[in-house]
Amino acid sequence: MTTGIGQNAAEAVSAAIDALAGRRIAILTGAGVSTDSGIPDYRGNGAPVRTPMTVEQYLSSESARRRYWVGSHLGWKSFAAASPNDGHRAIARLEARDLATGVVTQNVDGLHVRAGSRRVVELHGTMRRVFCTHCGQVFDRRDIARRIEADNPWIAIPDNVQLAPDGDVLPSSTDGFIVPECSVCGGMLKPDVVFFGEFIPAEKFREAEQLVKGSEALVIAGSSLVVNSGIRLLERARRRRLPVVIVNRGATRADTRATVKIDGGTSEVLQLLAEALPTRD
Ligand SMILES: [Zn+2]
Repeated sequence: MTTGIGQNAAEAVSAAIDALAGRRIAILTGAGVSTDSGIPDYRGNGAPVRTPMTVEQYLSSESARRRYWVGSHLGWKSFAAASPNDGHRAIARLEARDLATGVVTQNVDGLHVRAGSRRVVELHGTMRRVFCTHCGQVFDRRDIARRIEADNPWIAIPDNVQLAPDGDVLPSSTDGFIVPECSVCGGMLKPDVVFFGEFIPAEKFREAEQLVKGSEALVIAGSSLVVNSGIRLLERARRRRLPVVIVNRGATRADTRATVKIDGGTSEVLQLLAEALPTRD
């Protein structure tokens, strides 16, 4: 069972199994869980520094919205083409065996749902849905994507959109882009995701808290815990003296607060945990 991970990580995995055995586990995931599905982690080690668009910029500027939608459309297409990996599947298996209570995720890619997880709290929303900021009508992202491609056929042609080295869309390639609007009222659309500088909806965070509250351990996978909501959930677990296991390649903001820290890839490690954790009586 030590194949593929180093000696230190293998020892940490054993310690984690001891800490978690017999307990129902809440799982919190970040971008690192999806990198093996080909979705880049912009906060991970070596990633370029990004200045994400704020919600104020989005709401107040037509050119910001054009740039946002071009980038978001391309991002959504790569999400739609990605498949769940061994890490997503291990989490779904833990839930199916009643060892995990569910998963709280910072990811908007929908891969936990597609891997078969049933209880999924999407803290930062989901790319699957788009809503109207004026009348509240909700749309399926696939329908919006079809409208974008019908209105802007050039967008489907490779090399027509110029990207900066950090993956952001250059403004020059968004001239003339037709931004989709609400087909009911003509209002401004917004993907159902939490923007930079925007708060997680209170009811969404409460749902995540409930999931941790109904659990006897917390596993945090693929998050460097830069986002405060992750730290807050970790503190909820620590206050109840629950074991906390962190799985991440590289340091996180809370390594010293974990019962066990496993420095390793989430796909391999979650699979090892799912194989080794005994069924509860
Ligand atoms: Zn509307």
